[in-house]
Amino acid sequence: MNAPLVIVGAGHAGGRAALTLREEGYTGRLILIGDEPHAPYERPPLSKGVLQGSADLAGCSLCDGARLAALNIEHLASNPVRLLEPQHQRLQLADGQWLPYAGLLLATGGRARRLPPSEGNVLYLRTHDEALALRAALRPGTRLVIVGGGFIGLEVAASARSLGCEMTVLEAGPRLAGRVLPPVIGEALLNMHRSQGVDVRLNVVLESISPDAVWLVSGERLPCDVVVAGIGMQPNLELATQAGLEVGQGIRVDACLRTSAPNIYAAGDVCEFSVNGLYQRQETWRNAEAQGRHAALNLLGRELAFEAVHGFWSDQYDWGLQAVGVMTPRTVSRPLAGGGVLLFYLDADQRLQGACGWAPGNSVARDIKLCERLITTAMPLSEASLADPERSLKHWLRG
Ligand code: FAD
Repeated sequence: MNAPLVIVGAGHAGGRAALTLREEGYTGRLILIGDEPHAPYERPPLSKGVLQGSADLAGCSLCDGARLAALNIEHLASNPVRLLEPQHQRLQLADGQWLPYAGLLLATGGRARRLPPSEGNVLYLRTHDEALALRAALRPGTRLVIVGGGFIGLEVAASARSLGCEMTVLEAGPRLAGRVLPPVIGEALLNMHRSQGVDVRLNVVLESISPDAVWLVSGERLPCDVVVAGIGMQPNLELATQAGLEVGQGIRVDACLRTSAPNIYAAGDVCEFSVNGLYQRQETWRNAEAQGRHAALNLLGRELAFEAVHGFWSDQYDWGLQAVGVMTPRTVSRPLAGGGVLLFYLDADQRLQGACGWAPGNSVARDIKLCERLITTAMPLSEASLADPERSLKHWLRG
């Protein structure tokens, strides 16, 4: 009997890869191995609807157990892969069993980066079970301190505030989400959170956490019931490292998402790929979706180079943030209805390379979709027209 195709990591990229293999007509044995007890689900609702109580696990599902069974995808849950032997094309699970593979996808994602051990009630948010534990702690009047002013911290702040919690956000840098967002949008986020009653502190350094307070290096004591650490994600690289695969900040792959070992691919948050000679990882829904699908096609022998326009979104209170493409120094700003803003990023030839917007509701999504189409046309655009809110983005596409 032929060895199966095996996917390690039953998250978004792994789940998408498994579904794609079946959609593309692969009928052989297919095994999806996860260390969580759940079938693949999407994580974005965890910090939004799940915390607020408007979404549950079924609402986050990428494919539930019944669908996996119908597609004859063998899902091994709560049984992490402990050992990988590329030279023998086999791996070992936590329960001791060995599995051979004909082709392997590593989609092991990451886990929430940990703060040093303390006596405080510190919670994290990466998995559904962590979201449930956090949700149970969010009651009106709960004093919550969030360490980290990035997307996860800010989304938790918005969700917890809507549940009546008393919120403080601590950010070590001078801006919110400063690593990924332009200053004008970081500023808009700051104003939004402060106007909602969140005590946002910038340029602060955490000293320690005690059972009922957070201490800053300045000596200030912030009384609190719960601490949430939103200080980034740590890619799950241990398996690849142990197996001798090439790794940097993630599992290194070539243009076809192939790792340095034969018949092993990587996709999603854990995957480090080269863009114009620079290695990068993308920690976004869109990347997990695109790479999971792409790796599946290449597991079937297609040899396709991965090319994607990057993008992400975030929802906070009743506002939406969306970004697509890359940010360049040449920026044009357009005011949007309701106090929002849309930023365009151009290259030296006035061609659109990226866009980022922040606006009420989901209204910015439509603009960002149009920007994505404009990026692919590669046509030169007038800065004055881009800045003019009366000028529809569609006119260039019609032209
Ligand atoms: P994961 O989803 O982390 O899946 C990897 C799986 O592999 C996990 O289940 C892991 O436990 C498992 N695993 C690891 N090691 C092993 C092993 N040895 N054996 C078996 N299984 C293993 N992105 C956006 O673009 N917009 C958003 O609004 C947004 N919101 C988010 C909110 C939250 C709370 C979080 C946590 C993420 C959010 N993201 C968002 C990011 C997005 O969800 C991730 O980029 C995406 O989930 C990455 O998918 P993945 O499959 O690479 O990794």
